[in-house]
Amino acid sequence: MRTSLVVGNWKMNGSRAANRALLESMRKEMEAGVVAEVAVCPPFVYLADMESLLQGSVINWGAQNLSHHEMGAYTGEIAPSMLADLGCRFVIIGHSERRTLYGETDSLVAEKAIAAQKVDIIPIICVGETLQEREQNITEQVVERQLNAVLQLAGVNALKKAVIAYEPIWAIGTGRTATPEQAQEVHAFIRGHVAVQNSGIAEELLVLYGGSVKGSNAAQLLAMPDIDGGLIGGASLNAKEFLTICQAAV
Ligand code: PGA
Repeated sequence: MRTSLVVGNWKMNGSRAANRALLESMRKEMEAGVVAEVAVCPPFVYLADMESLLQGSVINWGAQNLSHHEMGAYTGEIAPSMLADLGCRFVIIGHSERRTLYGETDSLVAEKAIAAQKVDIIPIICVGETLQEREQNITEQVVERQLNAVLQLAGVNALKKAVIAYEPIWAIGTGRTATPEQAQEVHAFIRGHVAVQNSGIAEELLVLYGGSVKGSNAAQLLAMPDIDGGLIGGASLNAKEFLTICQAAV
């Protein structure tokens, strides 16, 4: 049995005051009821505040990116061990915004995932196709290529301590969600692809869906057999919306 996971990707949003207010209202609501495993991923500069803001709560935290290098002469970068030092349990890797806007390649994404695991941080590896690729009917090929980069670099065992997030690019921040059936199809494909190499690892693997998930569509998406939770952008900045999604994941 897989335990659901809901992760808030705050992207480049927030301020100390706004973060405090958001987390305080999330904590209040969460303490009242049982929810799925939950994490928030604020921008790097706010990670150091998470320990005190989330102390004694069930909410974990993580980063949105990391360097594949360890400490050294890499101006402007953040080393994996620094994230571990700040108590990060997760790190989002290969988000489509990083792939598209910052040129991250499949192989760099794979290296980053392994760098995170070396310091015991669970990488949330994002995969997903563009609208054009979906229309060309090559969604599975794209997702397979993205997954294979990790499998080839580190082997299937690397997925024992990793999470996959399927995020169709055409659904991110657009209000256009994949239907539960469309998402389930790709999630089942991902699990099946891993199962070819190791069925036990595939069975345990958490595959999250991301792309315009909100309180009103979460339950239907999360009811699908291979959708194990969500990676939530916009809706994670609203405590009530995010909580509704977390509750739908239980
Ligand atoms: P969205 O973003 O929920 O705002 O569509 C999801 C993501 O980019 O992780």
